[in-house]
Amino acid sequence: MKDFSSYIGIIGGGIAGLTAGCILKSHGINTIIFERSEHISEYGAGISISANGLKVFDEIGITNILADSSFTPSETNFQYLDSILKKLDIKSLITSSRKEVLHVLFSEYSRLGGEILYAHEHVNIDINSCKITFSNNAKYKVSHILACDGIRSKVRDMYFPASGKPLYSGYSAWRGIGRSDSKTIQFHFGPGAHIVTYPINKTGRSSFVGIIKNKEVYEDSWKVKGSKEAMLNDFQSFNTDIFNMIDSSEDIYKWGIFIRPPLKSMYVQNITLIGDAAHPMVPFLGQGACMAIEDAYTFATLAATLDCDFNKVQTLYQKIRSKRNNHVQATSMLQGKLNHIKNPLGIYMRNLILKYTPVVNMRTKKIWGYDAVKEVKKALSRLS
Ligand SMILES: Cc1cc2nc3c(=O)[nH]c(=O)nc-3n(C[C@H](O)[C@H](O)[C@H](O)COP(=O)(O)OP(=O)(O)OC[C@H]3O[C@@H](n4cnc5c(N)ncnc54)[C@H](O)[C@@H]3O)c2cc1C
Repeated sequence: MKDFSSYIGIIGGGIAGLTAGCILKSHGINTIIFERSEHISEYGAGISISANGLKVFDEIGITNILADSSFTPSETNFQYLDSILKKLDIKSLITSSRKEVLHVLFSEYSRLGGEILYAHEHVNIDINSCKITFSNNAKYKVSHILACDGIRSKVRDMYFPASGKPLYSGYSAWRGIGRSDSKTIQFHFGPGAHIVTYPINKTGRSSFVGIIKNKEVYEDSWKVKGSKEAMLNDFQSFNTDIFNMIDSSEDIYKWGIFIRPPLKSMYVQNITLIGDAAHPMVPFLGQGACMAIEDAYTFATLAATLDCDFNKVQTLYQKIRSKRNNHVQATSMLQGKLNHIKNPLGIYMRNLILKYTPVVNMRTKKIWGYDAVKEVKKALSRLS
């Protein structure tokens, strides 16, 4: 068995784990990713990476590669049923599929010589010796553990006991990838539901995500299929044209959206949580992956600059990231409430505000305008 005792051990090869791996490797820090799947995940639907995430991708040098195989829309249209509310120009946003984002990150991680062990599902950690045990009975000692194992993080369950189990958010999503000629992001509001569609590449493949508020708990999984009839039943008030693109979707998936409360601390001893393991959020601002990317950049750059003095790294990581993550987590929840208003007066007021005030522009500017590179530099300059 290889000796990884001087490597940073990353549990989970999703967006958080691969981004952290790329940045650490680019600084010459050895990393090993332990991923429970047999290969990098093929699942997931559309994903948008906004300017704040792309700033990190610029540092890794993959923005143009991702843009080439994805789409860069220049406009978002907001509408309520059939009436247009607002057209918003957008800059620096890539719409893609989760599979493509993972593929681009994985290619870069491999190019940098990053190592990954598949079929390695973490089951236990000896927190004092930093030794991880896997379900295949393999055991590896590492220098530090980055837990990037997603919303159902076993690491969080085991070593952050006050953190609480994932809770159903009250929202469920229908997702599919089909064909459409549209070149814009289309945001459709309806009573108690909303639908977002966008192209994910330049050959007419488009993502569909429809969200409803309901009591029935759908499973939290990338893999649970549903029928088009059941989906249409959930969106009865919407124009049926929106669903044409789904006719060409091979599969439609339904997905319960879960949340976990914010953590007081994202680290304990020699374990640090990153991405959904630390702060899963409802997807109404399209920021879960972007926060994972910002987290990963912050931790990895601090580790490189502070010579892997992990106590210092963790303290500063917490300081830089907790306020930002809590803010985006809470704002995403609020956005969910606004997107799913049911009563006619509330709908009228929300639509009026959206149409006649710059509220969307302001919110977007604050979230997308965050520059992880500058924030880390600022925090480090205060140390000296
Ligand atoms: C409907 C929907 C739409 C979304 N749209 C967007 C969007 O447009 N933009 C955006 O920024 N975000 C979006 N998100 C959020 C985004 O998908 C997540 O925030 C992001 O995938 C989190 O990345 P992660 O690496 O932290 O976790 P994950 O992507 O969940 O990766 C975790 C990895 O850990 C592995 N793993 C788990 N347990 C173990 C274990 N015990 N041992 C080893 N490996 C393990 C898993 O196999 C997986 O590979 C959306 C989410 C939803 C639900």
